[in-house]
Amino acid sequence: MKQILRHLTSNFFYLLKLPQKREGVIVLTYHRVHEAMPADDLNTPPEIFRRHMRYLKDHCRVIALGELLKEEAWEPLKGTRAQPTVVITFDDGYRDNYLNAYPVLKELGLPAVLFLVTGMIGTDKKRPRYAALPDPDMMDWEEVREMAEGGITFAPHTHTHPRLAQMSYEQQKKEIQDSLETLNAQHFAGFCKSVFCYPYGDYNEDTLAIMAELGFRLAFTVKPGINDAKTPLLELRRTGINGRDTLFDLKKKLAGAFDWLHEQTQRKTLHHLVGGAGGKGKGAG
Ligand SMILES: [Zn+2]
Repeated sequence: MKQILRHLTSNFFYLLKLPQKREGVIVLTYHRVHEAMPADDLNTPPEIFRRHMRYLKDHCRVIALGELLKEEAWEPLKGTRAQPTVVITFDDGYRDNYLNAYPVLKELGLPAVLFLVTGMIGTDKKRPRYAALPDPDMMDWEEVREMAEGGITFAPHTHTHPRLAQMSYEQQKKEIQDSLETLNAQHFAGFCKSVFCYPYGDYNEDTLAIMAELGFRLAFTVKPGINDAKTPLLELRRTGINGRDTLFDLKKKLAGAFDWLHEQTQRKTLHHLVGGAGGKGKGAG
């Protein structure tokens, strides 16, 4: 029933949005590309991932993070409905990104950005929901280095993946600084020290102040929608990809047809979170 409603609603918005201009940069969020786990909102099985990437290669202008940083104005970057401008992002730093996503990206020559939970890289630590998976579940620094040499960009996603909006200013600053310094200490090309991604898309006024204080220029949330010249650079929007997304779903997501649904889901998540009322945005991430 839920699936049928999801299809009906997104088809409705797809038709509604078809005549509208849609110009800007669309940022897609992937998490895992694991072969043995079911397709869900956090896992895109390798064969589905490959189909998505092929589609993006053939129909979109996929740009590297560096291009977003280079441009003073976003005007030259903005895509059109016929050829959307897309940035591909992955959250957390799972080893399956190295094993299953990187070979496809490399083969198709697609740039991507990986946001790393730096305190977990090169360790046997696991996110609680993946406790049953074999070690190691996160990539190590050698793998990061190899991907960086192959054109993948890396940026911090905190050190331990907390909900930042539930922490004090000092605690938040330490989390963010630790992740920056850990990446810095690895000395590799492809590390973008002025870009950040909020875990769970969770941040507040303090986080934004810390971003400015530490010199970050761009930061990514999980708020759905397209980014244009009016989008605050420290609150960039992203469109979550689900491992069950067909190519038509992907096309609808690029058209913004899922934005309303994503907003509703995030509102519900926010409602169920105890003590999380201080955050400016919530969701997977
Ligand atoms: Zn995350």
